[in-house]
Amino acid sequence: MSVKVYIPTPFRRLTGNQARVEASAGTVGELLVELEGQFPGLRERLRDASGSLLGYINIYVNSEEIADQDGEATVLKDGDEVSIIPAVAGGDIMTEEQVKRYSRHLLLSEVGPIGQRKLLNAKVLLIGAGGLGSPAALYLAAAGVGTLGVVDFDVVDHSNLQRQILHQTKDVGTLKVESARESISAMNPNVKVEAHNMILDSSNALELFSQYDIIVNGVDNFPARYLANDAAVMLKKPMVDGGINQFEGMVSVYSPGTGCYRCLYENPPPPGAVPSCAEAGVLGVLPGIVGSLQALETIKLILGIGEPLIGRLLLIDTLSMDFRVLKTRRNPGCPACGDNPSITELIDYHEYCGLPIPEELEQQRAQESHVVAGANGASGANGAAGIHAGGTNGTNGAAAPQRQAEAVGGV
Ligand code: ZN
Repeated sequence: MSVKVYIPTPFRRLTGNQARVEASAGTVGELLVELEGQFPGLRERLRDASGSLLGYINIYVNSEEIADQDGEATVLKDGDEVSIIPAVAGGDIMTEEQVKRYSRHLLLSEVGPIGQRKLLNAKVLLIGAGGLGSPAALYLAAAGVGTLGVVDFDVVDHSNLQRQILHQTKDVGTLKVESARESISAMNPNVKVEAHNMILDSSNALELFSQYDIIVNGVDNFPARYLANDAAVMLKKPMVDGGINQFEGMVSVYSPGTGCYRCLYENPPPPGAVPSCAEAGVLGVLPGIVGSLQALETIKLILGIGEPLIGRLLLIDTLSMDFRVLKTRRNPGCPACGDNPSITELIDYHEYCGLPIPEELEQQRAQESHVVAGANGASGANGAAGIHAGGTNGTNGAAAPQRQAEAVGGV
C-alpha cells in the first residue's frame, strides 16, 4: 500500500530535508523497516537496543495513534498518512490529546511539533471581546495559543450577537470577558484565559501589554486605537491591527521599527468626522473576516513563517469583493515611533481626540482614586492631586501624574 509519511523536523537531516516521504508497506511495522533501510540512522532514533519503539516516539496513522490500534501490526491502506511524532526536546511532552487535537498542524512542515510548541507557549492579548476579538480569540484558541488575555469592560448586549460570536443569547447581560472565557474554554480547555475586566487606560495599558508577546487590536474608537498604538510602540510589542466600518475592513501588522498607526494617521480625525460602527452600522460577517485574518497574522508572527502584513495595509471592500494591499512605511518624523518621538508617555486620549469622557471611565477613575488614595493615605499628598484629573481638580499641572482613561470595547 502506498502511503505518505510525515518526517518530524529533528529527523529530516536523515531524509535529505524531506518533510514527507512516500513508501509502500502493508503494516506500520513493515513501513518502519522499509524507512529504516532507506534512511540510515533512522532506526536508532526510533527504537531502543531491543528493537522496541522508544517511549517518546508516537506514530499516527491519519489521526489515530497506533497504540490505540494494533501497534506495529496496524494495517495500512492506500493513501494513508503516517506521522512520526517525537516528544519535543526542550519543552513539555505533548499529551496524546494535544497530538490528536493539533494533528493537522503537526502535518504541516511549517508548523510541526516545534511550531506547535511555539503556539502553546505564546501569550497574546486581545483588546476587545467584540466583533474582531471574537473570531480572533476562537481561532487562536483552536490553534493552541497557550495564553489568551482578553480586556474588555462591557457586558453582552442583544445588539452584539449579530457579529460577536464569542457571545450567545444566554450571555446577554453578563460580562464580555466572562462570556469570552466560557466560549474559549469550551473550544479548547488547554488555553489559559486571562480575563481583564477593566477599561484600558493610560495608567494600566503599559503594565498589561508588558505581560504579552503580541497585541491583537480590536478596538472600536479612536482614543483606544491611539492609546493601544502608543503603548505597543513604547513597549516594542508587535501589534496586529484590524478595523471595520459598514462594508469595509482593514488589516495591518506593526512590528517594532517598521512603522505604526501614527505613521499612517498622525492625528485622529475631528470628532464626528468618521462615524463609529454603533452609528454607521456594520455587516455581520465582515468582522469575522477581518478578525480571522488578524488571528492568521498573529499565528504567522508566532511561527515566524510567511510574510506578515508588515509595511502593508490590506483593504477589504466586501461589496465589490476587492482586496487591495497598499504599501506603508515608517515615518521618521512620526511622533510615536519616529527618530525623535515627541510621545514619550501615554496621554489623555479622550481629550486628545476631542471627545467627552464616558460615564464608565469616570466611575472607574473614582474607584481607582479611592483605592490609590487609601494606599497612599499615610504618605501624604504624593500624586493625589493628579488622580482626580478630569474631576474637580482642573488645575493639576504637567508635574502631577495623570490618570487618564480610555474606553475599550470590542467593535
Ligand atoms: Zn509611527
